[in-house]
Amino acid sequence: GPTVGVLALQGDVREHLRALVECGVNARSVRRPEELDAVDALIIPGGESTTISKLAIEFGLADPVRKRIGEGMPAYGSCAGMIMLAGEVLDGRPDQESFAGIDMTVRRNAFGRQVDSFEAPVRLDGVGGPAFHAVFIRAPWVERVGGDVQVIGTIEDGPAAGRIVAVRQGNLLATAFHPELTGDLRVHRLFVDLVREAQ
Ligand code: GLN
Repeated sequence: GPTVGVLALQGDVREHLRALVECGVNARSVRRPEELDAVDALIIPGGESTTISKLAIEFGLADPVRKRIGEGMPAYGSCAGMIMLAGEVLDGRPDQESFAGIDMTVRRNAFGRQVDSFEAPVRLDGVGGPAFHAVFIRAPWVERVGGDVQVIGTIEDGPAAGRIVAVRQGNLLATAFHPELTGDLRVHRLFVDLVREAQ
């Protein structure tokens, strides 16, 4: 079966590794370019995108990850990972760099101070069963998507209703929320299916 890496520079790496193991694939942490070479796909965890960006440059991973994404490696990013996959980042630090890949504009910490963290039901297109119990922690939202990007999840009610929080573009998947924190494996399964199809 495929080997799926989790970018292990900062963030909730362990939770993603656990979810992958529960999905029945080989899971590895990726901290060095050689480790990236050994994986078929990559998850970029939730955490802090400014830190992930800084460490990716320091560890010599930023360009190799961009190159693999450009070559079609499947990648999934949750929260900070979504920011790392965005072509354009608003409210980022000036020196922050993303890996890009998804033709979208995301806004960091978009939901505002009063609602730093919250939970909301989110239904994802192409994923059966009940709505996700989606956990948002200083999450971004997506403000613009290009024509090749499929919006697969939006906030359903409340002041942020209609905001885009899950997208897919080819082999790239991103969610503003953290399925790795809730034990609901449906997003990881969707990603693993996509990885298997890509092989
Ligand atoms: N606010 C963080 C960032 O900008 C993302 C938070 C998270 O991943 N839970 O990277």
